[in-house]
Amino acid sequence: MRKHIIAGNWKMNTELGEALALFTEVKTMAKAEVDLSQVDIMVFPPFTYLFSLKQLNDTALLIGAQNVSWEDKGAFTGEVSARMLRSVGATHVILGHSERREVFGEDNSMLIKKINVALENSLTPVFCVGETAAEREAGKQIDVICKQLKDGLFQLEADSFKKLVLAYEPVWAIGTGLTASPGQAQEIHAAIRSFISGHYGDALAGDLTILYGGSCNTKNAAELFREPDIDGGLIGGASLKARDFIDIAKTLTAVKNRK
Ligand code: PEP
Repeated sequence: MRKHIIAGNWKMNTELGEALALFTEVKTMAKAEVDLSQVDIMVFPPFTYLFSLKQLNDTALLIGAQNVSWEDKGAFTGEVSARMLRSVGATHVILGHSERREVFGEDNSMLIKKINVALENSLTPVFCVGETAAEREAGKQIDVICKQLKDGLFQLEADSFKKLVLAYEPVWAIGTGLTASPGQAQEIHAAIRSFISGHYGDALAGDLTILYGGSCNTKNAAELFREPDIDGGLIGGASLKARDFIDIAKTLTAVKNRK
């Protein structure tokens, strides 16, 4: 059975007061309005608020980090380790986000180390893949994504791979207001599942949660989530408004339960 997930990537937004208020609103609405046995709701705040949110969290909401060091400890100024993240209550970590790949130069060799250290410390990676506008225009989107999967993840044994959550995030749709059409997103999600099936088998691929991310909002969520290979959303901008974020989670449960 695939898990349905709504994950909110807060990126480098909010100051402490705003982060606490946003989380409190999300938590209150989630408790009152969402059947948390049907959907995992997770938020990825900046590192600085992880512990405070963990202390506020009296629900089944999950809290994750937006990055992790591949190092364990020691003289690595500015880095935050997987063990540190676990110790403040993080259960997940976003890896391979296009902003980290493009702005901070994270390449596959770094991502492999980060994935491994996360898994060794029981942090679940939410691993992002996606093509640029130029790659899509050249018709290379499936090749690009399969290469990201192969180079970043196929080093893992099946037992480790099955712990991952994947996110298809077309780079041209992130933070731009442009969204992949349901057909475009479904095509890629199905291609991802089939490529993974070829390497790890149908059962593992069939159970894998694959999120869509890229300007997903209250208006387009239902049509995206109706697609059979889209198991939820990685939400950026819309996760900073509690009402919208929870409405997207409710849309996911409504759409998936209708089937
Ligand atoms: C993201 O950064 O993961 C994302 C999907 O952002 P947005 O929803 O704002 O496009």
